[in-house]
Amino acid sequence: MDRSLIRKAASAILQGDSTVAFTGAGISVESGVPPFRGENGIWNQFDPATLELDFFLENPAESWKVIRELFYQFFGSAKSNGAHVFLAKLEEKGFLSGIITQNIDNLHQQAGSKRVFEFHGNSQKLICLACLQAFKAEDINLDDEPPRCSCGGLIKPDFIFFGEGIPTEAYNQSIQAASHCDVMLVIGSTGEVMPAAQMPWLAKQHGALVIEVNTEKSNFTNQITDIFLQGKATEISDLLFQEIEIGNDS
Ligand code: NAD
Repeated sequence: MDRSLIRKAASAILQGDSTVAFTGAGISVESGVPPFRGENGIWNQFDPATLELDFFLENPAESWKVIRELFYQFFGSAKSNGAHVFLAKLEEKGFLSGIITQNIDNLHQQAGSKRVFEFHGNSQKLICLACLQAFKAEDINLDDEPPRCSCGGLIKPDFIFFGEGIPTEAYNQSIQAASHCDVMLVIGSTGEVMPAAQMPWLAKQHGALVIEVNTEKSNFTNQITDIFLQGKATEISDLLFQEIEIGNDS
């Protein structure tokens, strides 16, 4: 990795008034959570139709079988990694105003981040579709297929399924954050999932510098990225944090 690029990115974060991170499935890959697409992607093992809202409503037991295995047994044991911790430390030190995440794995919060705008919801929260009572995943017996509320209503994970809209509050907070930041730090996203992928574009339109961390080029790289830091999220995060500490001390 070219150290001068790391220094340039670190100095932009140190000097900026507001840095916002935009994270995708790639930041959690080193926690053992695979992305959806690509060679080892989730959609090579599971049928994405399971996460279509209409399918879920018509076949809740069948849908819940996959949901339970994928999001609670498999994702559920994942631990935050150095890249999640890096963002939490940046926020604690006053260098990060918030994180817009496409992820539903709760790993930013587990690492200690406070301002997290969950564009696609969170798998650790569940909701009754009849009475709208909210639950923590740990409080619900997920062995029941499908899990039901005491009112008899069907319980659904509180992340968005295909065919559902973006949660209004997270959407509005994300738009605010993206349009007011002067540095947008994109980590581990292909930039293919809309409307989430519009957030870095929005930041760019409002004059932000776009720093991107990814093992491969994405839809952003040749179009809006100003500084491309190619590599694994944890490795680049370590390098960035070292430079930020050096810059902050001097
Ligand atoms: P994606 O699956 O489309 O792409 C992942 C990106 O991460 C790719 O660009 C890849 O090159 C990059 N990447 C892989 N390993 C990396 C690493 N170690 N360090 C840095 N980058 C790495 O991801 P997406 O753009 O976020 O879109 C997928 C959608 O699927 C999202 O909307 C998200 O909601 C959902 N999803 C979430 C999770 C999760 O919660 N952890 C997991 C899978 C999918």
